[in-house]
Amino acid sequence: MMEQESMFDPRMAAETVSDPAARVEKLRREIEHHSYLYYAQDAPEISDAAFDSLMAELRELEAAHPELIDPASPTQRVGGYVGEQFAPVRHAQRMYSLDNAMDLDELDAWTQRVIEAAGRAVEFVCELKIDGSSIALTYDAGVLAKAATRGDGTTGEDVTVNMRTVRDVPLRLRDAGVAGLADSDGSVEVRGEVYMPKASFDALNAAAAANGKAPFANPRNAAAGSLRQKDPAITKGRDLSTFIYAIADERAVKAESQWELLQWLRESGFHVNPDVALCATPAEVRAFCESVAEKRSVLPYEIDGVVVKVNSFAMQRELGFTAKAPRWAIAYKFPPEEKTTLLRDITVQVGRTGAITPVAELDPVRVAGSTVAHATLHNLDEVHRKDVRVGDTVIVRKAGDVIPEVLGPVLSLRPEGVLAWEMPATCPSCGSPIVREEGEAAFRCVSMDCPAQALERLLHWASRGAMDIDGMGEEIVARLVESERVRDVADYYSLTEYELATLETGRINKEGEPIHLGSTIAAKLVAAIEASKARPLARVLFGLGIRHVGKTTGEQLAAAFPSMERLMAASEEELAEVDGVGGVIARSIRAFFDNADNCEVVHRLGRMGVTMEDAHTGDEIPQTLAGITFVLTGSLVESGMTRDEAGARLKAMGAKVSGSVSKKTGYVVAGEAAGSKYDKAVSLGVPVLTEADLLRLLEAGSLEAAGIEARE
Ligand code: AMP
Repeated sequence: MMEQESMFDPRMAAETVSDPAARVEKLRREIEHHSYLYYAQDAPEISDAAFDSLMAELRELEAAHPELIDPASPTQRVGGYVGEQFAPVRHAQRMYSLDNAMDLDELDAWTQRVIEAAGRAVEFVCELKIDGSSIALTYDAGVLAKAATRGDGTTGEDVTVNMRTVRDVPLRLRDAGVAGLADSDGSVEVRGEVYMPKASFDALNAAAAANGKAPFANPRNAAAGSLRQKDPAITKGRDLSTFIYAIADERAVKAESQWELLQWLRESGFHVNPDVALCATPAEVRAFCESVAEKRSVLPYEIDGVVVKVNSFAMQRELGFTAKAPRWAIAYKFPPEEKTTLLRDITVQVGRTGAITPVAELDPVRVAGSTVAHATLHNLDEVHRKDVRVGDTVIVRKAGDVIPEVLGPVLSLRPEGVLAWEMPATCPSCGSPIVREEGEAAFRCVSMDCPAQALERLLHWASRGAMDIDGMGEEIVARLVESERVRDVADYYSLTEYELATLETGRINKEGEPIHLGSTIAAKLVAAIEASKARPLARVLFGLGIRHVGKTTGEQLAAAFPSMERLMAASEEELAEVDGVGGVIARSIRAFFDNADNCEVVHRLGRMGVTMEDAHTGDEIPQTLAGITFVLTGSLVESGMTRDEAGARLKAMGAKVSGSVSKKTGYVVAGEAAGSKYDKAVSLGVPVLTEADLLRLLEAGSLEAAGIEARE
């Protein structure tokens, strides 16, 4: 609701009210009712100003009578800070994920199977599959008591403080909702999706770009990220909304079906998506899916499909669940979205090793949840194979999280006289020749001193997977390179706060004067640079940007040579013996350290205090997991570790980490939204560990100490 000046002077009321407790209660009911009309029904009856006036009176009364303050009051949406961590919440009923139907035929096959299994006619409820983050809301005696994320389905995170700030979440159930409960003590857990509307997502990303921060990839990540803020005031500013569509235990309500449940949810005050259909036949289900696919792009929020559910609760109980998902529901996923747009130009990007990549510069177009303005064309051969030319109308495809792709031109729309694209002869950054090496698809800028390569190397060093210098984004690094304050990665560590504070951002203020970075950002950057010195050796090795040395190779090298000095002295043969390092990589590493300039940079990094030796070598950690292969799937939400980080810690205990599940796999660790690897583990009888098990294992140091059964 828009903030407006109040027309009401609350100070007067607070003094004159004869029964403040009754008045407070009345105001709360009134405000709840109008919030409900505004957020859940989208049908306000009073103006924003009148609403604000009611809120102002309530605030004033509560200030005058602090004993009347109640957590369920609409004034109490923003509470204190979340502690260091979001507390784990064990779900009383598991939060399942859904099986997918990837096309309409698979959907038909599913509806038919369900009808056969039921042995009678089946009604289906179709709902939009909201692309947000799952949420469980628990009400005790009608009052919002807990909000939890799905986590791994068994254990989620307590995000109550943040969910309270989401304005369409009722802090109290409406009376009609309480009356609809089987035991009307007002205790119930409902479930749904918290999401960020497209417009708010765009605004958030525009603000992030203006502040030099990384944008969110899609509204789902933005919603999940906003929910995991330590400061609820930030969550409040993020414009999250909910759609509620489920109940943890359907026996808690008098409803007999999903359709009746949706009605009960509406009556209880929840925001329920209006785009739902009760279908009597598979053909109707199919028609609903088709109609939704058509209007998807005009919805103000992202959806990635349609969820089809068996309507009757009795029938749902008969059908039951698999290990991962209910048998009575399926998610029909939309095919990857395709759009046409103009290919304005093909530019080239110079990578940190000099590799030249052609990039399609497109008229910005919204595809599957984000705006696409650039797309890699990979290499010259690809440009020719697809025959895309500047001036063409091209088809761009993207599915959810997937990187956008230019499929090809619409030939009938090709203007006359457009020429096939050719690789430029010289590097756009330094003017050196571009050459194609024998037997390689890639073209390279051969210069050792190319500013574009330097920029990429610097960005790579600062990136999250490498040294993780928070805030050191493209804009700032580009200015540091241009102003010659930084040439190589070691130069970061001699930057002073003054140098950073006075760095020109390239923007000007209203008076036409250049805007400087300023002391606040400068102080943060200096602290972030300082903090990066402590990253482990593996990250330093990855960060150096040695050709072919990715994150995993960095870890393998650090495990084999726990000190930079030993690594730099290793022969090509010794390097090639390291697990995961073949001849090509060994040669590349040797070539890197045979270059005097590179060695000088590494030595300078060492002098500046950057890690050159790991305090704990692989030898010191007991190798209790030697010979056991782990496969990680899904995301580790509780610990916030990436899979790579978790994998590295398992490897440090001697384990092998593999990307695919086989009979030989020792354990599969399944995080949130675990996929097909989980299914495969179950079908092969490979034991599955939860994130909590993994954390216990890492903490305890062995399977036995963690109470995890060893496999024969
Ligand atoms: P997936 O993560 O692809 O397995 O899909 C399952 C998730 O879809 C659930 O955990 C919910 O968070 C989400 N979802 C979105 N809309 C709905 C809906 N209408 N009904 C059920 N689940 C939904």
